Amino acid sequence: MDEERTCSESDCERPIAVELHVPWDENRFVCAAHARVLGRRDGVVADPLPDSADDLLE
Ligand SMILES: [Zn+2]
Repeated sequence: MDEERTCSESDCERPIAVELHVPWDENRFVCAAHARVLGRRDGVVADPLPDSADDLLE
């Protein structure tokens, strides 16, 4: 199940970089790019994963 290591957004196969804590839904694991977008929604908390946190510091 290598699928679990890729972004949960449809049509996106980038590696997971961030865990999103979504108050109204299950947590999602997404790439850095989607984390930037989805993390702006009210209540969503973006939690960078340690092994790929550098992707967020560009
Ligand atoms: Zn993505």
